[in-house]
Amino acid sequence: MTAEIVRSACPHDCPSACALEVERLSPTRIGRIRGNPDLPFTAGVVCEKVGRYAERVHHPDRLTHPLKRVGAKGEGRFEQIGWDEALDTVSLAFKTAAEKYGSESVWPYHSGGTLGVVQRYGIERMSRLFNYSGMTGTICVTPAMSGWAAGVGGQRGVDPCEVEESDLIVVWGGNPVHTNVNLMSHIQKARKTRGAKLVVVDVYRTSTMAAADIGLVLRPGTDAALACAMMQVMLAEGMVDEPYLAEYSDFDDEVRTHLAGKTPNWAAAITGLTVDEITAFARLYGRTQKSYIKFGVGFTRSRNGATSMHAASALPAMTGAWQYRGGGAFWGSFDIWGLDTTLAHADDKAGNVTRMLDQSRIGAILNGQEDALEGGPPVAAMFIQNSNTALVAADSAAVRRGLLREDLFVCVHEQFMTATARYADILLPAAMFLEVDDIYKGWGHTALTVGPRVLERHADCRSNLEVVNALAKRLGAEHPSLDMSSEELVDATLDASNLGELSMIKEQGWVDCSPSFEDAHFLSGFRHSDGRFHFKPNWSEIGPYHVGMPSIVDHWDVVDTVGVDRPFRLVTPPPRTYLNSSFTETPGSQKRERRPTAMIHPVDAQSCGVEDGDMVRLGNARGDVVMYAKISDTAKQGVVIAEGVWPDNNFDRGIGINMLIDATPVPPAGGSAFHDTAIWLRPEVMQDAAD
Ligand code: SF4
Repeated sequence: MTAEIVRSACPHDCPSACALEVERLSPTRIGRIRGNPDLPFTAGVVCEKVGRYAERVHHPDRLTHPLKRVGAKGEGRFEQIGWDEALDTVSLAFKTAAEKYGSESVWPYHSGGTLGVVQRYGIERMSRLFNYSGMTGTICVTPAMSGWAAGVGGQRGVDPCEVEESDLIVVWGGNPVHTNVNLMSHIQKARKTRGAKLVVVDVYRTSTMAAADIGLVLRPGTDAALACAMMQVMLAEGMVDEPYLAEYSDFDDEVRTHLAGKTPNWAAAITGLTVDEITAFARLYGRTQKSYIKFGVGFTRSRNGATSMHAASALPAMTGAWQYRGGGAFWGSFDIWGLDTTLAHADDKAGNVTRMLDQSRIGAILNGQEDALEGGPPVAAMFIQNSNTALVAADSAAVRRGLLREDLFVCVHEQFMTATARYADILLPAAMFLEVDDIYKGWGHTALTVGPRVLERHADCRSNLEVVNALAKRLGAEHPSLDMSSEELVDATLDASNLGELSMIKEQGWVDCSPSFEDAHFLSGFRHSDGRFHFKPNWSEIGPYHVGMPSIVDHWDVVDTVGVDRPFRLVTPPPRTYLNSSFTETPGSQKRERRPTAMIHPVDAQSCGVEDGDMVRLGNARGDVVMYAKISDTAKQGVVIAEGVWPDNNFDRGIGINMLIDATPVPPAGGSAFHDTAIWLRPEVMQDAAD
């Protein structure tokens, strides 16, 4: 078959937001997907999971037709119906809920199944047009955003392509080999062409750390102690750019005195690193002008995640690295886009939303917890797009108890029979990104990528936009966006944002939205009203849960308490070829990831009587799961690493690992502490062995 190469863009929940070249074999089939070589960040590279996307888009288990529940809630028994019956049923359920409890009792809910400007966020028009409850999207990056906002202000930094001009690259709390693969090619270029050093800071020896010159494995939730001790060393040894600090930050004698006590000895006891490791890293960083820190979000998924990000983000302010090409830091581009989404998101109606519910607290919300409901009515009807919340949300058993409520109507629009889809009353088949048009904010770089439709729709699938439009019209709304196709909305959004014409942009595949060098490096000031980096943050400006947060940059000792009943700390980072719960259905990813595995330190394994390959049960008050044990000193003693959010069918109780995670909001603005869970661990006695 002759392949035609067409351009598109990756929609998945990943900072790379790759521009793609797709082999189109026919109007309904693709071959391989490769990276677009012309977008500087993508540079012709994509991850292996998207490279073999044909496995996913042509998967035999895709949902094909609207379904109506015929079994008990959560049982997963459905019968096929037509689109009209499905949409009529949903619209009637929403009207009934609104009449009985008020319009706020209907909750449209979405997450990062696609990051498309049109296909992901278009659902928010439902809340705006009908005064349904809105959603604060906290599940992923809120703690990182909070910490960055506290010091730097805003949500931008130095484009990762600039690492090619760096002499020291620090990857802190992220594993780009698994989650941001393109970054590695830019890092490798700097190492080859200028002999740049790569340092990786993480809580286990990740695939990225394996490629590094220096790897620092610390205890989870102790990053701020490392950062503060580095600042102490740099201050004590005169490696600080004092004129820069004076001009560009609020650093003063109070901060200086405070940091003087944060010695490497102090930090060694907290982090588990040696004094020598901390001092050597501080000196290397302090003496390198062109030092670049790429922050991941992993280390912020802890109760003290925002304070950790704040402390680590202070390092380039100490050395003045921001001033130099190839220097500074970056975690994400969220405030650079300037997109006018008045039409696509009905922003003009945003004032109609009177209740915002916290996405991460879905369990508490569905179970009627008063504070989570913000003083409003119970949620009586939901419309879920792009989210497998029953599997991926923290305290997932509570989410499922909520979804089981007989007085809750749930419509799910999905691509596969996910854990969440099984709880639907009406289940609708969703189109994939290759079957729709959209644009994507490359939050791990600075290009807005454009993804035109490549394939005809699979079976009876519909796009997110089409379903929202049809439902909103059935419910009686009027808005110009409801009569527009995704291509028309993309075009109108680009036009309103003065970014050019879609027909021209499609050719290239992206629009460059990078800030100027001065803006990206904050040479015209940090993004606080005083233009300075803040060592003394005002947490109360950032979120409601700020009580007790440190008033000067510091380690905040609030992580989940381990003790005799729960002596281990569980961290659940992403594996290489699953992305949240996406790709867990593709054969290539399943083959690579094999089986749910807990990596346990040899000393812990011995004390628990666990051997390599044994089954082990991990648990706490919220529940327990069984996994395979792998004995490894990849992390510090007392830390258990379990990569991946594996589907339910891998677990004996039929529910995955996020059942163990606490859903208490991370200070100051919410989010889930996915990597901050105290657990017990014991060998699992298999039934046949016990008999
Ligand atoms: S690296 Fe990320 S953005 Fe690029 S193709 Fe893979 S999932 Fe998509």
